[in-house]
Amino acid sequence: MNDDEWQVWVSERPEAVRAAARRWPGCSGGKLVCYRSTENPRFHYTIYSYAETPTGVTCSLVHGRDSTLPGITTFGQPLEQLIRCDCGKWDPPTVEQKRATHKRLERLKQGRN
Ligand SMILES: [Zn+2]
Repeated sequence: MNDDEWQVWVSERPEAVRAAARRWPGCSGGKLVCYRSTENPRFHYTIYSYAETPTGVTCSLVHGRDSTLPGITTFGQPLEQLIRCDCGKWDPPTVEQKRATHKRLERLKQGRN
């Protein structure tokens, strides 16, 4: 999404989401903005979506190639935990990583580790 498209998209969101998306943009300069988390600053994330909740705006984060859960999107994440990284090196998970994550989740669902 280029900057013009991003600005239009943001302008069409509810007020609280607009404010959050301006402070923690999902993309900038036509590129995804990468973030790190105060919880675990080793890994990269990108923002996939925003959600307005009774207690504030949260986001869903896509875990990148360097995450312990590559390919997973986690919901309800507090934006305040995000540290804008901007190195531009968020990479999507590899096919192998996605398969391994899927298998891991299947094992967890079945009560095995
Ligand atoms: Zn980065």
